[in-house]
Parts: sequence; structure tokens; C-alpha cells
Amino acid sequence: MKKVDILGVEFDFTTQQEILNILQDKIERNKKAFVVTANPEIVMYANKDPQYMHTLQFANHIIADGVGVILGSKIVRQPLPERIAGFDLMIELLSIANQKGLRVFFLGASEQTLEKMIPKIKRDYPKLVIAGYHHGFFKGHEHKVKQMVKEAKADLVFVALGYPKQEEWIQKNIDSFEKGIFMGIGGSFDILAGTVKRAPGFWRNLNLEWLYRLIQQPTRWKRMLALPTFVKKMFQYRRKSSDNM
Ligand code: UDP
Repeated sequence: MKKVDILGVEFDFTTQQEILNILQDKIERNKKAFVVTANPEIVMYANKDPQYMHTLQFANHIIADGVGVILGSKIVRQPLPERIAGFDLMIELLSIANQKGLRVFFLGASEQTLEKMIPKIKRDYPKLVIAGYHHGFFKGHEHKVKQMVKEAKADLVFVALGYPKQEEWIQKNIDSFEKGIFMGIGGSFDILAGTVKRAPGFWRNLNLEWLYRLIQQPTRWKRMLALPTFVKKMFQYRRKSSDNM
């Protein structure tokens, strides 16, 4: 698949439908995949932390989650086809899992979030098989959790530990598992559980989901400072590559 390099992170040149087809095909063939949904914050973090950048290099698919990444791809004149929100990708995969009776494991978020989310999953996706679930605060029990995931033999494993933990967990453990699509999904379980609200369509259509999240969780403002730096770096990157031509 064609990739687009955004400050050293290699994004898939894909639409949501294309990546869904690819992942479905991998599930049917019992193949493994490590999927990252990355926004500018993640790209900036990888640029500061070589270990995390190294982890991302093991991913099979890095998906452009965030208008900032699309903007970045335009700045380097290799526009990516569309933004694919990690949350939307998860919802689509849950529907496919429901249609096909796939096995799904949910790893991450708090116990309270899971208590609210699991009944909703059972109600909304009755034919999906819940292969297992575990909250995301398991320091000291890493081995037990790995064994649980291993024995669950899930087709889809959603890992909601936030970055960089979720990607590090996937990279560290994926070799122990026989099959499965492993996808880092950030705070999506909280949205599914209803404890955090997703931006309504109006905000999303205006590409203002980030602003809506900021208003809901004002403590995130510091993290968002990564965005202007990201845009600045993209322009520097473009200047450097055109100087080299
Ligand atoms: N979380 C977890 N274990 C941890 C730290 C965080 O399970 O050790 C969960 C947390 O409860 C939340 C999610 O990971 O559900 C992080 O959400 P956030 O929106 O901060 O992640 P991002 O989208 O920025 O990666």
C-alpha cells in the first residue's frame, strides 16, 4: 500500500472503506495486524521519543485520525484521501463483527467504563462474540492479561490504554498471539460507555471535533499545544525537501 511520510510517521494512503476491506480480508485469512490511528499529537510525540517512533515502525497500518494529519499531507503535497476517525473505524468493525459473529476482546479504560460499555455492546451487537475484556490498569498483572488475550483467540482486539501505552502494549505482546487485528483506540471506550460525549455531527463536519473535546475536557489544553508546533514543523519539512530537489 502507498504510504505518506508525515514527520517520519508512515501513513496509509487509504479511505475508510479500503482499510475496512483490507482488515476484513486479514480477519478471514486469520492474519495478524497492528493498527495505529494517529493524530498530530501522536506524530509529535514520536518525534520526541525515539522508542515510540520505533514502536510505530512495527505497525502494519497507520491511519490518519485528525484533520491535522490531512493538513500535514497537503503541506507536503501528498494529500491523503480522507480523515478516518479511530472511533468510526471501531464502530464499523463492531458492525462487521456483529454480521459475521466475530470474536472481540476489549482491553482498557476503567472498570466503571467497562461495566457501562459491555451491556451496550451486548444490546447493540448481539451476534458479536465477546471473547473477553479487562480494564486498563493492570500494572503488576501484565502476564495474566496477556494470557487472557491469548486464550480468547479474538479476531479483533481493541486496546484503549491511550497512547503511547496502547501501541507499546501491542508491539510488546503481538508475537504471543495466534491471530487478530490489534488496534489502539484511545478514549473510545469512554465514548461507547457514554461517560464522555463525542462531538455532534455539526462540530465534526466543521472539522472542530478537537475544539469540542477541549471544551468537554479542558485539562487537555496542554496536549493540544502540539498542534501549532506540528504545522510549523510540516512547513519546515517541506522547505527542507524542496531545497534538496
Ligand atoms: N487508560 C487505561 N490505562 C492507563 C491509562 C489510561 O486504560 O494506564 C485509559 C483511560 O481510562 C481512557 C483511555 O485509556 O479510557 C485514554 O483516553 P485518552 O482520550 O486520554 O486517549 P488518547 O485518545 O489521547 O490516546
